[in-house]
Amino acid sequence: MPVEICAVGGFGEIGKNMCAVRVDDEVVIFDMGLHMGNYVKFTEEEREQVVKLDPKELKKVHAIPNDNTIDDWRPLVKAIIPSHAHLDHVGAIPYLASAFDAPIICTPFTANVLQSIIRDDKIKLTNAINELAPNSRMKLTDKLSVEFIHVTHSTPHTVFVALHTPYGIVLYATDFKVDITPVLGKKFDMQLMEKLKGNVLVAIVDSLYSQDNKKTPSESVAREMLRDVLLSVDSKPHSVIVTTFSSHIARIKSIIECAHQLNRHVVLLGRSMAKYAFAAEDCDIYHTSKFAEIIKYGSKVRQKLKKIESERNKWLIIATGHQGEPKSMLTRIANRTVPFRLRKDDIVIFSCNIIPVPVNMEHRQKLEEQLTDMGVRIYKDIHVSGHASREDMRDVIRAIQPKHIIPVHSAKAGIRGFVDLGIELGYREGKNVHPLVNGQRVIVE
Ligand SMILES: [Zn+2]
Repeated sequence: MPVEICAVGGFGEIGKNMCAVRVDDEVVIFDMGLHMGNYVKFTEEEREQVVKLDPKELKKVHAIPNDNTIDDWRPLVKAIIPSHAHLDHVGAIPYLASAFDAPIICTPFTANVLQSIIRDDKIKLTNAINELAPNSRMKLTDKLSVEFIHVTHSTPHTVFVALHTPYGIVLYATDFKVDITPVLGKKFDMQLMEKLKGNVLVAIVDSLYSQDNKKTPSESVAREMLRDVLLSVDSKPHSVIVTTFSSHIARIKSIIECAHQLNRHVVLLGRSMAKYAFAAEDCDIYHTSKFAEIIKYGSKVRQKLKKIESERNKWLIIATGHQGEPKSMLTRIANRTVPFRLRKDDIVIFSCNIIPVPVNMEHRQKLEEQLTDMGVRIYKDIHVSGHASREDMRDVIRAIQPKHIIPVHSAKAGIRGFVDLGIELGYREGKNVHPLVNGQRVIVE
């Protein structure tokens, strides 16, 4: 039984990613993430009563992966390796990792974000956090070593995790797109993929958009979309607010550049914005504070908003709240609980998609109704995804030529699309393309 994969979370669903690999008597865990929809719903309903979130409760409401599916492997775990800093990949670490006697190994940006989550939530983590830079390799045990391969995605320092074993490479290849003109960081390097050819026993691959027959557009397309709106709309006397993912440093860079073309100062508002912006600075990825103000705490935010209220046409606000989250800055502005009022013909740009879970859709609808009632002009979907589409997946699988493939990060439709793609590429369902759902295991050889 050389290599066995256990699908713990994110298989047959979107969110709470976690995958365990057993190689003889050693186990490595990839990702330990939150299910954002379930987590937001739970913390909104329960947070007033629950002081410290209990992992058991979080598991019960499916907000974090059910790691009890690998209880028999627990003593064998040698490392926990999150692939990047998105919460659906690292967000459950504070609740689950301490129950494993193993270090966390991740890129510097991911480590920085993880440390600030732990600090902010006052969580004690017993695991060491060891940094490994993209495109470098680290020995784990006598038999195992881990290599991080740079890929492009919607947050910096995202990697494919290559676990080198005596039986070949186990490649955890989730959350990527093929972007050869990114606006921040290195491009996707297909040659790095080709170098793996012939050595990959199994690849566990992002299958979210396996049914979309296209190539996901580059992040530079999103920059053009932003430019197109911001530079062509007459915003002169009005307020402009752009909301996007706090972790999307490349997008924030593009927004700042557009704002400067409009001769507006930029301010990033909110704890979450500050967390990722400072992480990017610490890791020398992008120095936001050279180009914009970053304001983290409530009282300072109020002061700043008061100032902006009197200089409305001189600023561009980058705010949290793209999913209409109730505690976010944009929602608070819409609720008029901060000293800044939106007026008729002010501009709000959603540089994001709506993550299609009911709780988000409800929140966004409510927010958009409030904004519309104020006469605000809304620009939605000024966005391109960070996830591969079907043709990107085809190129990557062709370059790597893994012996086995497994879809991850998708619900039923994504799995089906991926299996069909696998069949087109010469794989056979159940033989070497394995549509796993949470809790299932498969032996590959
Ligand atoms: Zn991601």
